[in-house]
Amino acid sequence: MTENHAQTAVPFHGRSLIGGVFATEGGDAFRGYSPADGRELDPVYLSAQPDDVERAVSLAVEAAPFLAASSGKDRARLLRRIADGFDQAAKALIDRAQQETALPRPRLTGEVARTSNQLRLFAGVVEEGSWVMARIDTAAPSRTPPKPDVRSMLRPLGPVAVFGASNFPLAFSVGGGDTASALAAGNPVIVKAHPAHPGTSELAGQVIAQAVAECGFPAGTFSLLFDSGHAVGAALVQHPHIRAVGFTGSFRGGRALMDLAAARHEPIPVYAEMGSTNPVFILPHALAERSEQLATGLHGSFTLGGGQFCTKPGLVFVPEASADFSSRLRALTEEGPAFSLLTGGIASVYGKQVAGRAALKTAEGASADAGFAAQTALLETTYAVFAADGELAKEVFGPTTLLVHCTSSNQMLEAARALEGHLTATILGTEDDLKQNAELLRVLETKAGRLIFNAFPTGVEVCHAMVHGGPYPATSDGRSTSVGSQAIFRFARPVAYQGLPQSALPAALRDDNPEGILRLWNGTWTQS
Ligand code: NAP
Repeated sequence: MTENHAQTAVPFHGRSLIGGVFATEGGDAFRGYSPADGRELDPVYLSAQPDDVERAVSLAVEAAPFLAASSGKDRARLLRRIADGFDQAAKALIDRAQQETALPRPRLTGEVARTSNQLRLFAGVVEEGSWVMARIDTAAPSRTPPKPDVRSMLRPLGPVAVFGASNFPLAFSVGGGDTASALAAGNPVIVKAHPAHPGTSELAGQVIAQAVAECGFPAGTFSLLFDSGHAVGAALVQHPHIRAVGFTGSFRGGRALMDLAAARHEPIPVYAEMGSTNPVFILPHALAERSEQLATGLHGSFTLGGGQFCTKPGLVFVPEASADFSSRLRALTEEGPAFSLLTGGIASVYGKQVAGRAALKTAEGASADAGFAAQTALLETTYAVFAADGELAKEVFGPTTLLVHCTSSNQMLEAARALEGHLTATILGTEDDLKQNAELLRVLETKAGRLIFNAFPTGVEVCHAMVHGGPYPATSDGRSTSVGSQAIFRFARPVAYQGLPQSALPAALRDDNPEGILRLWNGTWTQS
């Protein structure tokens, strides 16, 4: 069964959008799905062909010098125009995303706002300009040996390939944080659309292409390629003119792209934000003071969005004396609804992973048959069993979490020391708990990109200070973040200019500081 788009009056083309023009042909066909009932959606999408990849890359190469020379103010105008376009297209985007993801409307409404706010955040950053980290060391010809004039700043990399995740059809997709930060830094972007939400991707792509045209940027500033499989993504990552990759998705996908990039004649950076189990440590005083509140909060967090958040708390270490907490969590789990997961693949992997842990299941939620349905599962075990089975520390994407009952704070510390890299680590405790477990905090700092105290990890604020990253395997490069304004640094590199005359220097490095930005002048930060 297919849906009738005449009713929504939104023009879907089902083709890749290359430099503002829809491809006329394509390869393998595929469609979006409605996860709520498994129904196929119109239109048919055609995969990009090798020629399409070539065209998108060569247009991006042509556009790169324009973007590199553009001012922060011009790029801010482009980013704000895209943000306005998303706000104006909000209804169509939400309608389509709801069909393709079954995520609740309020969540998608919030995601549109988050996406446009994110674009505006980067607009503010590049308009202000200090992000380029200008450093100026003036010459001292009479010094022995003579000191040259050296000035440096961050410059864009060139065409960036972006891959979005299925679980954020807007904020981590076509117009999401990777695209916003790469454009902000002055790079053309080619997005490989996620096949789980092709219609939402196409609408977002149209908004961006229109903004590019309206702001007078070259058409190759942005392209969107569809694919039913992995050929287009692999071709992009391997293309000699692609200079960097932004990826959000599974560990398997991210690792595959890292390996492809590393095997190139000229390896390029892949900023892959991958899965995470987001360990939570519940400490004794907090448990004694508010076990019911903690159980309610944890249940809300691990089932939010059907447990399909990269920040879902999937691993929870609790003191053994936690009977009230566990029984409350079991009751909440049993009362909870069934969820529709995003894709048939995610639903089937979830079912298999939970079945593989069936011996640990202590409660389950309602079940359903329709679409890509999944049942919530609460799993519990002892620290001894957990420590003996490395598989139990791995991410299960969907509405489940694993409680690990620990007999001592030493067991918690041992568990923390054995963790791999994660996006977040959470401590639920009192200030006394923290004092008594100071070493735990120090260990967790080496394991996660964000440490959270007395809150749950789902929900990532888009702000200047945010770090949504973490050591491998949570990401490919723990020195970076994919959320917040620091994400821009992934798509720029420092260039030093030695001895250049003022007239040949970028404005940010000229003596008169025409942009009025903060610079490091002979070792002192100044705006003058
Ligand atoms: P995914 O299956 O890895 O897909 C992401 C994108 O990469 C898709 O376009 C996918 O195409 C493509 N891809 C995957 N493997 C590839 C390969 N070998 N070669 C070329 N392209 C490849 O991820 P997902 O299922 O959409 O997202 C769920 C996962 O993302 C979870 O593990 C979640 O924790 C993680 N996630 C992480 C973050 C974060 O910020 N760290 C945020 C959201 C989600 P196909 O669909 O055709 O395979």
